[in-house]
Amino acid sequence: MTSPVAPPAPSWLGAAMSALGAAHEQGRMPHALLIHEAPGTGGDWLAAWAAALVLCERGKAGPCGACTACRRVAALHHPDVSWVRPQEDSRQIRIEQVRELTGELALTSHSGGYKVAILTPADALNRFAANALLKTLEEPPARTLLILVATEPSRLPPTVLSRCQRLRIRAPERAESIAWLTELRGKGNWDAALDALGEAPMQVAQADPAELTEVGADTRRTLDALAGGRTDPVAAAERWARSQLPLRLLCFENWLTERIRRGERSGALLAEMRAGPYLSDAAPFLNIRELFELIDEVRDLRATLDVPLNRGVALEALFRRLAPAGGVRNGVQG
Ligand SMILES: [Zn+2]
Repeated sequence: MTSPVAPPAPSWLGAAMSALGAAHEQGRMPHALLIHEAPGTGGDWLAAWAAALVLCERGKAGPCGACTACRRVAALHHPDVSWVRPQEDSRQIRIEQVRELTGELALTSHSGGYKVAILTPADALNRFAANALLKTLEEPPARTLLILVATEPSRLPPTVLSRCQRLRIRAPERAESIAWLTELRGKGNWDAALDALGEAPMQVAQADPAELTEVGADTRRTLDALAGGRTDPVAAAERWARSQLPLRLLCFENWLTERIRRGERSGALLAEMRAGPYLSDAAPFLNIRELFELIDEVRDLRATLDVPLNRGVALEALFRRLAPAGGVRNGVQG
């Protein structure tokens, strides 16, 4: 993750940073924040920035970036900041993790100031974990800041959502992403790199733009061919499982998201809800609900890449759902 106190700050987070800075300066910092981010737009970055804001030894309206507290937050090991994420073999945040966090928050802070908990992605909290967290949200210990980062907050119980102040981060315009990526990483074909992953500059920042462009284009070709019945799902799955799978799955997610957007723009979503017709372009046989289901499954696969399982088989099952009924047409293999 990019350091929360090192420049350049993502410009599209400026408004959210100003609002948080002002709230802290005026002593009206909420005890629970929900950062609702578009995927890859810097929810974790903003959460770390907010942690530095309340823990900084000097700044009031913004972290100074230089004091011990700021540097520790930036290095991701400040003793008063707890990061809670799904554990290796799971895509869920479990109740044991929330219980451990509650215990930690009940202790006195090391620095005599705030204690901060960052749950990310918070939409990975399972039902039991969310309920356990609710108690802390209802009666938070003094000087506690709970930050939930989520791309799909609707997965969280309304009781949890209603106790958090919401900050919305929308995807920046393409030109703004390119300017930030260029400042951060230097010149590169950031436009093509963003095409591969969608408007997700934080994800793009972690990749090599040339590699991303190449893998993105190749991934797109394979998916279009699968959807058109022009390539063999088994061969394609084997090829993906062998190289660049995590990156390819991100590109796959973007490919599906683009199809959903296109369907929504053409009014197919409304029509689909009424009568169940299908999208008319590259994946004519998939309706929007099926596309959303596929995105969930791609995310599941991406979240469990550390688990030893036959990725080829899992991919092949996904690919078969893209391919038109009847399997490969024209006998073309790829
Ligand atoms: Zn500081």
